[in-house]
Amino acid sequence: MGSSPISLQTVLCAPGVSGRRATAFRKDGLTEFMQSIMFKKQELKEPFYVLDLGVVVSLFDKWTRSLPTVRPFYAVKCNPEPALLGALAALGSNFDCASRAEIEAVLALGAKPDPDRLCKPVIKAPEDGGARCPLGPKYGALPDEIAPLLQAALAAGLSVTGVSFHIGSGDTHSRAYHGAIAAAKTVFETATRFGVPKMNVLNIGGGFTADPKFDEAASVVKSALQTYFPNQLGLSVISEPGRFFAESAFTLATNVIGKRVRDELREYWINDGIYGSMNCILYDHATVTCTPLACTTNRANPTCKGLRTYNSTVFGPTCDALDTVLTGYQLPATSGERLACVSEYGCLYGRCWLQFQRV
Ligand SMILES: *Cc1c(COP(=O)(O)O)cnc(C)c1O
Repeated sequence: MGSSPISLQTVLCAPGVSGRRATAFRKDGLTEFMQSIMFKKQELKEPFYVLDLGVVVSLFDKWTRSLPTVRPFYAVKCNPEPALLGALAALGSNFDCASRAEIEAVLALGAKPDPDRLCKPVIKAPEDGGARCPLGPKYGALPDEIAPLLQAALAAGLSVTGVSFHIGSGDTHSRAYHGAIAAAKTVFETATRFGVPKMNVLNIGGGFTADPKFDEAASVVKSALQTYFPNQLGLSVISEPGRFFAESAFTLATNVIGKRVRDELREYWINDGIYGSMNCILYDHATVTCTPLACTTNRANPTCKGLRTYNSTVFGPTCDALDTVLTGYQLPATSGERLACVSEYGCLYGRCWLQFQRV
């Protein structure tokens, strides 16, 4: 937790966070912290997550510094964990909800609904974004649908408050924000031409990632806003970041519950998988990394540093072959008596854990 103590203190007292078990650990001390949980609670076999609140605080700081004029509305569907929602609310985030359950989760933390957000016409972002999870095929108006839509809204006496788009999630090219903001500007102009009362919301959606690409995306957004929406008094620019806040703040520890050796190939079964926490591999085309966390036989070298590694497969616990977490991954074999119980058909050998992180 390397962030400013004032923000962290605020977060620790927030609804959803206070009352949960929070522990301070060194920056870069996550692996050690997870090991301490496992060694302390020898009976603990279930997979568990650690939410690093320090990461949430520093991501929020980063957002505020990079995009000070864009108000974030966290997309709750990305991860509705109350401690994450509570931390974000305490830091000043708003929320984007897609279901009754999500609305209830956010209201339970004391958030107030914002009546400005009841209506959001959506435009389709230009289709060259390269997103792993595009939204375009399902959502948004085509350019030549904009005029009839605005006219229909006028005729029906509906108030049109603004424009929103989403460039798609995962590996999207940052330049997609530029094209989408330019397209939004055209919609604002069309609306003015038709005599639609002045619109006051521009929603630039999600698609941000918590890696160095964020800086590039933020600077594209900033310069496109300056180009197409300069000095717009009364315009509220909002965003719906989801993965940006959720993907790097959580780390999962799973227990190895089985192993099979076939020639040089090592195959492991763990007690979480595609049908559980790692559904992101299927739905989100996510890449995860895996680190050996602990072999209770070798506490001097629990992460197995420097040991020979083997070509390994990691399976989730179900019988479905689709439930495969990693293939062709280099992992060290566990040591000593742990290996002694490994049979050709796999067997339980308990106390070895793997730590997963999304990359
Ligand atoms: C999922 C979703 C988001 C969040 O997208 P990220 O790419 O995770 O930031 C934002 N808005 C809508 C409408 C969504 O469905």
